[in-house]
Amino acid sequence: MLLGAIEAGGTKIICGIGDEKGKLIEKIHFPTLSPKETMPKIIEYFKGKDIVALGIGTFGPIDVNKTSKTYGYILDTPKAGWSNYPFLDTIQKSINVPTVIDTDVNGAALGESMWGIAKDNESCLYITIGTGIGAGFCSNGTLLHGLLHPEMGHILLRKHKDDTYNGRCPFHGDCLEGLASGPAIEERFNEKAYNLDKGHIAWEIEAYYIAQALINYTMILSPHKIILGGGVMKQKQLFPLIHKYFIQMMNGYINKPVLNENIADYIVYPGLGDHSGTYGSLALATLALKE
Ligand code: ADP
Ligand code: ZN
Repeated sequence: MLLGAIEAGGTKIICGIGDEKGKLIEKIHFPTLSPKETMPKIIEYFKGKDIVALGIGTFGPIDVNKTSKTYGYILDTPKAGWSNYPFLDTIQKSINVPTVIDTDVNGAALGESMWGIAKDNESCLYITIGTGIGAGFCSNGTLLHGLLHPEMGHILLRKHKDDTYNGRCPFHGDCLEGLASGPAIEERFNEKAYNLDKGHIAWEIEAYYIAQALINYTMILSPHKIILGGGVMKQKQLFPLIHKYFIQMMNGYINKPVLNENIADYIVYPGLGDHSGTYGSLALATLALKE
């Protein structure tokens, strides 16, 4: 049975074909331009591919409320041409198969829980730290939505004592995304993040903010596993630093081995590596199949 996957990111779109067991058979990618330039390429790719269901994991904000008139619309976004764009409707006019659309991070959380590092866990939180910061939460196969969908990148934090940077979020300044996204690291130190030495204070500050965020998410959602992906997390030296700060800040309040001596099994790199998002969209297609 062939399933389609669309991973729509801010810089590129990945389209792929796979199956319900999580085997990805082929994929292609192209840049995310305006919908007028991008949508025909997506539709063209799936022509004649015989898929029986489709999953779309996309940048947000999007309307994920299935009973809403604007379900599957991209909402207000600075991305040219995409504000209030009927993403799902446009796809379905040409590709008429059961389709589920959700945030890229909810998709990644589902993919990791079906086929990745959280396959033996009841729930997991997937966080991407890249151009922006976002997170998705999957509990027993159900993805968390609310009034809209969670926007966990925009939580407010305590500043690091040595950090004089004001943050770059256009809405909040020094929220998590404003302080800890890839572009924030680069603006603070006026250097590409991948050029910063492994021992640079940048990584102490970064780990301090990420650990605070994870403490908050753990207190609110109580996930069984926390997965950290995105470009910034390629800096693997961040993991032990995040583990250290997490244990310090938790200060024994939740008394479980996985939050102490086994923390390296709790806060982890994605099992599906760089491909969590694509597998995530494939996983969303399996939901479409069930519906
Ligand atoms: P996006 O969030 O746009 O989908 P990424 O998750 O790759 O894509 O995030 C891109 C950002 O991550 C870059 O702007 C850069 O700041 C940062 N980044 C990418 N690769 C690395 C790396 N190897 N080390 C540190 N930071 C990186
Ligand atoms: Zn913000």
